[in-house]
Amino acid sequence: MIIILFGPPGAGKGTQAQRIEKNHGLVQLSTGDMLRAAVAAKTHYGQKAQEKMQAGQLVSDDIVIGIIADRIKEDDCKNGFILDGFPRNVAQAKALDVMLSEEGVKLDAVVQMEVDDEALVDRISGRYTCANCNEGYHDTNLKPKVDGVCDVCGSTEFKRREDDNAETVGKRLKEYYAQTAPVLPYYAEKGILQQVDGMAAIDDVTAQINAVLSA
Ligand code: AMP
Repeated sequence: MIIILFGPPGAGKGTQAQRIEKNHGLVQLSTGDMLRAAVAAKTHYGQKAQEKMQAGQLVSDDIVIGIIADRIKEDDCKNGFILDGFPRNVAQAKALDVMLSEEGVKLDAVVQMEVDDEALVDRISGRYTCANCNEGYHDTNLKPKVDGVCDVCGSTEFKRREDDNAETVGKRLKEYYAQTAPVLPYYAEKGILQQVDGMAAIDDVTAQINAVLSA
């Protein structure tokens, strides 16, 4: 199964993608995570992407399309994958169609996570992850069970994304509405767009997504 988790920054795509990965055996492909890894490793692509990411702008299509085209050819993607953060504009959506048809596979569903704008800023500015296993937390909505200790791996090291600050969040939301939201009609026309209520509790959102995937 191949699905896209679609929604603005802070909608919960990463959290839900991790859960789908565990429950359905699909691989999470997050272009944001891949780009952050490239930035940390100071690769050629990473250096080109870094400035745009810090400014809350989209990285060039060539880079992200190239990254996804290479990644979906790997063995672990053969059972299916969840795209998280890709495509982010119509050109990327069209490029994805070409890649998938070259691989002889098709997109099963695009799951749009609907969240109010006010909630997004709060979600993004309070979120952080375990530096070891990447489990996600939030300052007020999702604290670890024991203060300062990761529930999953016991690590006491946590990290915050550089672009999760109030100024950059505003720019990322603008980019979403200008460039990414126009992808929705593209998938609606294909009859594969489904909505879930991203404002619901995390477990409820997972249940809604599971219902879409088993339909
Ligand atoms: P994310 O982790 O999905 O919020 O992405 C973080 C940043 O990486 C974005 O603000 C963009 O600068 C960049 N990025 C991630 N995915 C894409 C994409 N598909 N196209 C262009 N830029 C992207």
